[in-house]
Amino acid sequence: MTYIPAAVLAELGASVTAEWTRRAACGGRARVMDPPMRKLDAASRNRAIAVCLGCAVLDDCRTWVMTLPTKADPGGICAALTESQRAQRRKHAKTCTGCRLVLPGTEFHGNPREPDGLTPYCKACSQQIRKAARDQSTR
Ligand code: SF4
Ligand SMILES: [Zn+2]
Repeated sequence: MTYIPAAVLAELGASVTAEWTRRAACGGRARVMDPPMRKLDAASRNRAIAVCLGCAVLDDCRTWVMTLPTKADPGGICAALTESQRAQRRKHAKTCTGCRLVLPGTEFHGNPREPDGLTPYCKACSQQIRKAARDQSTR
């Protein structure tokens, strides 16, 4: 898949806010992030990853790209990860029903009643829910 500069992705993905994509270090650097030869050799991969590691919006970008299904992945280096690293992470990840972040399974409590053995809400969201319930009961 051809690499689409993050600034353009703002128009494509509903979850992408234009605000952070305007600060993307890869804007206008499509050839660095996804070289046309398709085969990323180690040197070009490291060059692209270095762009991401110096990017002010790496966290926003990673949150966004890891929420995408694999078939919608932009390709190339994105969020300091290769396409296959992202696919691998998605396999071991789960979307929280509350915050909608894609997180590793370790970020969820176990629940044997759920089909995947994990609670639908991540640990942070579960904590917030419990706190809200406590606050409500003490009113
Ligand atoms: S982290 Fe990398 S791919 Fe994401 S916006 Fe920044 S430079 Fe672009
Ligand atoms: Zn959550």
